[in-house]
Amino acid sequence: MERTLAIVKPDGVSRGLIGDVIKRIEGRGLKIVAAKMLHMNRAQAEGFYAVHRERPFFGDLTAFMSSGPAVAMVLAGENAIARWRELMGATDYRKAAEGTIRREFATDIEKNVVHGSDAPDTAAFEIGYFFNRFEIVA
Ligand code: ATP
Ligand code: MG
Repeated sequence: MERTLAIVKPDGVSRGLIGDVIKRIEGRGLKIVAAKMLHMNRAQAEGFYAVHRERPFFGDLTAFMSSGPAVAMVLAGENAIARWRELMGATDYRKAAEGTIRREFATDIEKNVVHGSDAPDTAAFEIGYFFNRFEIVA
């Protein structure tokens, strides 16, 4: 059993895609063990994406992620990290596989609807960034 952090990004929430994303998560057999809606401020978005601090798109990315409400979820299951990234598709929606969330819904390399942790250590950091242990069901 593995856990990963999923986010429906502000573009996904404002476009009414929360339900579509959750439908795919549940359809794939991943369990949602925590969920909340939140509107990050700029500093919180910068802390969340701190690994990308030096990247040229950091300013735009953190402005976008703090531009409106997002939905954060903890997903659990066997190989949850890889399975959730498979459902999301590649960062650049033009390169994402057919049938993935980003291929179907993303409009832009930045506004790509969803986030997913990329490894066990980043998953642990990202889950702890938004949820305490009382907010995650067993
Ligand atoms: P995420 O971490 O959001 O799940 P990812 O792991 O597929 O996405 P990362 O390389 O971690 O991709 O980039 C984090 C986010 O930064 C991307 O999802 C996207 O919103 C934005 N991003 C990545 N590359 C670019 C780029 N070249 N130009 C603009 N924004 C970008
Ligand atoms: Mg990433």
